[in-house]
Amino acid sequence: MPTTFQNFTAGAWSDAASNERFEDRNPADTKDLIGTFPKSDAADVDRAVRAAQKGFAVWSTTPAPIRGQVLQRVGELLVDRKEAIASAMTREMGKVLVETRGDVQEAIDTAFYAATEGRRLFGRVVPSELRSKWAMAFRRPIGVAGIITPFNFPLAVPTWKIFPALLSGNAVVWKPSEDVPHTANLLVEVLLEAGVPPEAIQLVHGMGETAGKVLVEHPGIALVSFTGSTATGSKIGETCGRLHKRLSLEMGGKNAMIVLDDADLELALDGVLWGAFGTTGQRCTATSRLILQSGVHDRFLKMVADRAEALRLGPGLDPDTQVGPLIHEASRDKVESYVAIGKKEGASLALGGTRPNGQALSSGWFYRPTIFAGVRAGSRLEQEEIFGPVLSVVKVTDLDEAIRVNNDVVYGLSSAIYTRDVNRAFRAIESLDNGITYVNAPTIGAEAHLPFGGVKQTGNGHREGGWAVYDFYTETKTVYVDYSGKLQRAQIDTEV
Ligand code: NAD
Repeated sequence: MPTTFQNFTAGAWSDAASNERFEDRNPADTKDLIGTFPKSDAADVDRAVRAAQKGFAVWSTTPAPIRGQVLQRVGELLVDRKEAIASAMTREMGKVLVETRGDVQEAIDTAFYAATEGRRLFGRVVPSELRSKWAMAFRRPIGVAGIITPFNFPLAVPTWKIFPALLSGNAVVWKPSEDVPHTANLLVEVLLEAGVPPEAIQLVHGMGETAGKVLVEHPGIALVSFTGSTATGSKIGETCGRLHKRLSLEMGGKNAMIVLDDADLELALDGVLWGAFGTTGQRCTATSRLILQSGVHDRFLKMVADRAEALRLGPGLDPDTQVGPLIHEASRDKVESYVAIGKKEGASLALGGTRPNGQALSSGWFYRPTIFAGVRAGSRLEQEEIFGPVLSVVKVTDLDEAIRVNNDVVYGLSSAIYTRDVNRAFRAIESLDNGITYVNAPTIGAEAHLPFGGVKQTGNGHREGGWAVYDFYTETKTVYVDYSGKLQRAQIDTEV
């Protein structure tokens, strides 16, 4: 039975002012309508931002350790609801249940980390160059944060932003992806039940080009945190630059796994299958390029193709499924267009390249795991983010060439190298131009207490996760206290 879901703004669940709605359907079976959601516009965003400004006044003056206790309860409620949220998430996003459970677990870990940060939020006290004077810096909340999130991690990515934003004392207006709105409602229910003041969290559903755009432009939004495609991030970046807003961008990737001749191939095999075809390739950190040294190229390519062929496609709610559907028709169209591009560029199809046969999967956005061999470095297939189950294999002669190929893309999120040689591993760690490098592990697998983010056109220098994200959600204020009772002039009244 489809449900009519609502926004949460100004302390109440409500429809869009226009009363317009959009549908949320199961990508594994598009006949399954999960519900309809408000198609919000400027009026709804304005209502949310105004309410959040009131929420900020209350929440920013609540002691940080108390805010931390609320985040602790958030984590506990997520533990209680892990299975229910994971099932709902699989139904609307498509990835398999083990992965949506992991998505919820990431949110739990992020909540418990945030809870402890409530008793840290460290500033610094440092010596002053003058006598009888203290010099220090502390963190302040900033204001109302506009949070815009993608579809592929319906819970984890929003919580990477919302939990540190709230712990730091900011109020939040959240515009989730229109592809996964149900998970957003489940999270906001948890936040409210845990004790986040109703006006400190606002949920506005809708399309990016309307609700998302006006949220970024709204003068009441002091900072914007966005995760999504580089194309969308560029538009948001232009707006925030013009309006002088603090902005964190986490965007696309074209991540590579390098397998050298001395690698443990069985280990690398498990890694590449998980990295390339987990989440149906729809991870910002997905392995979309496999860079093979010539000595292992032929053998390893065959090993990967054989195992990938045996992966079971199906609805994520089926425990036997290993690869779920793509998120929507446009995503599958995009994958198909890149398969055509790959063929045109002369790469050879080693596996897949078609939709699955048969009726069973015909009402979902399924696509077979696909592998291209003989991919030329610099080709479109090798350079552009596809965001689907397509792996491009590039042959290289040595580590130097592998590093060059890895680095010669506009993105810089994640990379992986499989080798048993510690010297080569460390050379790679130093030279791979990415925000994250894994040694003998796939390109995916971030842990909540470490910084996460990419270089070049993947990010704009901020980091999510761990301690680093708190630099984005707080403003540093510097304080000098002179108790000498006389005018002391820095740099002028020197003693030596
Ligand atoms: P997307 O850019 O299409 O949408 C992301 C969000 O932006 C959605 O909520 C959308 O409604 C909103 N949006 C769209 N246009 C907007 C506009 N003009 N103004 C404001 N908001 C707007 O991305 P997607 O398809 O949901 O997600 C896939 C992309 O996200 C991939 O490129 C992937 O690499 C990236 N991603 C990156 C990370 C990371 O941490 N680097 C993590 C997950 C996903």
